[in-house]
Amino acid sequence: MRNIFVLDEITANKIAAGEVVERPASVVKELVENALDAGSTQIRIDIAEGGAKSIKITDNGAGISPGDVQLAFQRHATSKITDASDLDTIGTLGFRGEALPSIAAVSRVTMATRTSDEIAGRKIEIHGGKEINFQEAGCPVGTSILVEDLFFNTPARKKHMKSLNVEAGHISDIVGRLAMACSEVSFQLTNNGRQVLQTPGNGNNIEAIAAVYGLETARQMIELNYQDEFLKIKGYLAKPVVSRSNRNHQSLYINKRFIRSRLISDAVEEGYHTLCNIGRHPLVIINFAMNPQLVDVNVHPTKMEVRFSNESELYTTISKVVRETLLGGEIIPDISIPAKKKPPKTEYVQEKIVISAPTVREHKPEIYQEVEKREMPQVSAAVGEEPTVTENLPYMEPIGQIDATYIVAKGESGMYMIDQHAAHERVLYEKFMNRQEEIMAQELLMPVTLELTGLETQFLVNNILIFTDLGFKLEHFGGNTFLIRAVPQLLPGQDEKRFFMDLLDTLSGEKKTLTTSEIRENMLTTMACKAAIKANHRLSLVEMEELIHRLGETKNPYTCPHGRPTIIHMSSYELEKKFKRVM
Ligand code: ADP
Ligand code: MG
Repeated sequence: MRNIFVLDEITANKIAAGEVVERPASVVKELVENALDAGSTQIRIDIAEGGAKSIKITDNGAGISPGDVQLAFQRHATSKITDASDLDTIGTLGFRGEALPSIAAVSRVTMATRTSDEIAGRKIEIHGGKEINFQEAGCPVGTSILVEDLFFNTPARKKHMKSLNVEAGHISDIVGRLAMACSEVSFQLTNNGRQVLQTPGNGNNIEAIAAVYGLETARQMIELNYQDEFLKIKGYLAKPVVSRSNRNHQSLYINKRFIRSRLISDAVEEGYHTLCNIGRHPLVIINFAMNPQLVDVNVHPTKMEVRFSNESELYTTISKVVRETLLGGEIIPDISIPAKKKPPKTEYVQEKIVISAPTVREHKPEIYQEVEKREMPQVSAAVGEEPTVTENLPYMEPIGQIDATYIVAKGESGMYMIDQHAAHERVLYEKFMNRQEEIMAQELLMPVTLELTGLETQFLVNNILIFTDLGFKLEHFGGNTFLIRAVPQLLPGQDEKRFFMDLLDTLSGEKKTLTTSEIRENMLTTMACKAAIKANHRLSLVEMEELIHRLGETKNPYTCPHGRPTIIHMSSYELEKKFKRVM
């Protein structure tokens, strides 16, 4: 055993840098956060070669007074907290006093800074943790810091850097996240002299989001606002059609600090449940303003992980608020470019479309029979008469079908296309959900024999009560053999065995253990899908109208239970644009 030494400061800083400064993007994050803490309204970030060659951050914040400049580069030197009790009430992004010394330990740093009280500023140069130069210098109020040759003295770290494009991508990602949280600050990012991102800094959140994700995505955002005594949530939820294949596009902030939180992401996705396709993830930007005492941001050196004091309450609140916001907002996917000015009214040519082919009603009477019996309002409407106005959908009136699959309807603002299968699925799904008492068992004349695998048997035995609840009567015949003696009444004329096996497959294939309500829901989704009118079926205008009407009665008419859209819209303005009547 060797003797114990206390590490010298440079070595200690290099070690700390290993935690704080993972890659060029972490340098940018720390320095931009410093600029924000200093109250800047304009922050400019210029990088060269993905930040590996140089990173320059210029701000117009408070600056550092001459006596504090050298101190700022010492370990645990911070102006933001004075003792441990302040940790409970952190209102700034920084507080550990580690970033500047860590960055300076693994690069060549030049900083120029001036406060408004001083006539001249100060310039300091530190290479690999060693002060090279410190002098008076003329500079504007604020701080500019140049970081060159990152990791020049830590070859192992340098080797870990990915391609310059990848590193540049990480930088633009983090700048975008910070910019969306602080729309009152103007951000500008260039790489090798080329502009990558610029936000106006006018306090308009949607404009900041547009700068990052583009105008089209920004237009598909629904605003979320919520407040209780502990929590204030403000955010933007993308309509389900904008979903992404991973969670990277979920920007979550606690008191404007960008964080990652499995808990919050899960809660948000719970709120989107059945609206987003399975395997897709919503795009959201949400800030949670809460008492700093209820959240611990000092869990990890990069301050990206947080711990909450009341996790389950938080989860419930978030998923509920997200859901309510989505259901309240118009989540109809808009394929049009919204008009800047009010679109002119369009005159429609009224055409009667006569469909002579057999309709679904004649073709598959069982689909409509059961429904008609109890809830079809008497439809007397003929084409053109009373328009179909339903509670949760804009006015629309069917004019025909395309490919016997999509209903075309006209409305006050242009044209709608409705996927008849998806729409009917939504109608049936909500009906099944609402009328679970009516899912009664119907005895089969001949029991159906099922041969299962050991795994399926196990799953079935464990969950047999849920299946019974849903209207199946099952009998264990011995070994892996079961008999189906009854099926849910709502299952109209299906191949019972196949339906049951499909259901069992989906359920037992799930990696996580499903709760009773998840199994029930999964089953109702499958039942709705099986029972819904299919694509390639002709419908009469009355049937189309009826379907639209019933879709409008659902709580969530814009997506099917799997999350696919039921309706798309093309506005009159967009039609006029396409025909070049307007420019
Ligand atoms: P922390 O942000 O955790 O306090 P840093 O090492 O990032 O630690 O910064 C140390 C100190 O230097 C800060 O507390 C702040 O007083 C000062 N500082 C750093 N960057 C800036 C800046 N851009 N403008 C004004 N002050 C700054
Ligand atoms: Mg800092």
